[in-house]
Amino acid sequence: MSNDDNAQKSKEKHRERMQEHKAKVDERIAQAQEERGILIVLTGNGKGKSTSGFGTVARAVGHGLSAAVVQFVKGTWPCGERDLLQKCEVPFHVMGTGFTWETQDKDTDIKAAKAAWEQAKIWLADSSIDVVLLDEITYMITYKYLDLDDVLQAFENRPKDQSVIVTGRACHRAIAEMADTVSEVKPVKHAFDNGIKAQKGIDW
Ligand code: ATP
Ligand code: MG
Repeated sequence: MSNDDNAQKSKEKHRERMQEHKAKVDERIAQAQEERGILIVLTGNGKGKSTSGFGTVARAVGHGLSAAVVQFVKGTWPCGERDLLQKCEVPFHVMGTGFTWETQDKDTDIKAAKAAWEQAKIWLADSSIDVVLLDEITYMITYKYLDLDDVLQAFENRPKDQSVIVTGRACHRAIAEMADTVSEVKPVKHAFDNGIKAQKGIDW
């Protein structure tokens, strides 16, 4: 067989494989008919959880949908996404305290977590809000600052078309089980481990 014949055969094989692949994808697209809001969990130890959550909020707002954000941990930190999205009239509730190992005052943190959760619950019951981002909420459950059943119940009872995004490391299994989409970001490398400082616009 000549080189030309081989090349032709390889092209045909490629086309056949792509056709098969397309048929499978089309079938799956045809099967996905349900329309409702989803619960998304972005967890794991790698970088990219909050940026993904905020990216989805920006995506929704860009389409003219409404979104609300609760930041459970980094209240005292500057945050580029917050500065941008607040200009787009996205309401934010920022937990008043910083990292727990900075404040070292458990009672204050619990109070702040509960107040943030009360606001989250209001948005989780509001059908005019399409997307609710609960950034770093996983830690509040790990530390038992919030009641897991209360959180699960609010997720369960939310408006049908509302999507909720949960971010943070070590997401509780019960939340991951309830979720429709769960992504675990795996740290392969991080610049910080090589002594590179966290930077504005990249890390916050
Ligand atoms: P990002 O906000 O960049 O998407 P994240 O939400 O996935 O990060 P967090 O655990 O919330 O990660 O950490 C917030 C900060 O810590 C960010 O500045 C991020 O760059 C940094 N960070 C995230 N993962 C790592 C890591 N594996 N090693 C060092 N620093 C990290
Ligand atoms: Mg984060």
